[in-house]
Amino acid sequence: MKRSVLLGILLGVGAASMAAQTPAAPKVIDILKLKDNLYVLTSSTPGNAATFSGGNVAVFITDGGVTLVDDKLAGWGQAVLDKVKSVTDKPITTIINTHTHGDHTGNNGFFGASVEIVAHENTKTNMEKMDAFKGDNAKFLPKQTYKDKLTIGSGKDRIDLYYFGAAHTSGDTFVVFPALRVLHTGDAFAWKDGPLCDRNNGGSCVSFPQTLAKAIAGVKDVDTVIPGHSPMQTPKDLQMYQTFTADLLSHAIDAMKAGKSVDEATASFKVDKYPGYKNERVKGSIQAVYDELKK
Ligand SMILES: [Zn+2]
Repeated sequence: MKRSVLLGILLGVGAASMAAQTPAAPKVIDILKLKDNLYVLTSSTPGNAATFSGGNVAVFITDGGVTLVDDKLAGWGQAVLDKVKSVTDKPITTIINTHTHGDHTGNNGFFGASVEIVAHENTKTNMEKMDAFKGDNAKFLPKQTYKDKLTIGSGKDRIDLYYFGAAHTSGDTFVVFPALRVLHTGDAFAWKDGPLCDRNNGGSCVSFPQTLAKAIAGVKDVDTVIPGHSPMQTPKDLQMYQTFTADLLSHAIDAMKAGKSVDEATASFKVDKYPGYKNERVKGSIQAVYDELKK
């Protein structure tokens, strides 16, 4: 046996045994049945890289096919598809991207250019800056965009897309399934903590409370809210989040006027009066307000 061949075998065995020691974590996505023809693909809570698959995905099964709201992180496309196939034989025909981030748009390419991809016009602009959508991959950008409101389908299959202004990014879509009384907020309501305002993509913690107030006033008759990254919520929870973001904004503005540092402003903001809320992201939100108002 030639030395190089033997070396190859040894290396091969070495690689195989290493692979056996550290198997790739199986990509597990949980599925939740919300209504007869609406499911949510969860496993959406950030923090554990092995289990975090991206944002909550709504799976809406219509006569004409399946519409997904968001499509999780790149690499999770097959796991998403397998879960969809576990509840319907219908093909995925439409994907709505609530906003630009890779944990919501990561599998546009996996599902392919034949799927109709829909997003707010500012989200398309934001996505054009992402490496994932450059060159040949530009074909996975949204083809259908809108400015203020867009309706897809009719009757029980109707989906309404609303834009109420900047919040998490400059292109956050609120997706409503009127027949089912369900709202998907994307990351305009991601979690019960300080909002992430992505200023590089036009997000604004200054506009955030107002945008949420417009959404609450503009979207009526829902009983269930699918948030970006936490368990299912109610319209009451969304209302509390609006109050929380408004409180956080006015606290940051007052602290800034009083010459306080971001750390001081963070330390004096109390989340106790908001049941179930954390303050892990409050500093980031206050920093975003300071940065935005500084100029
Ligand atoms: Zn996001």
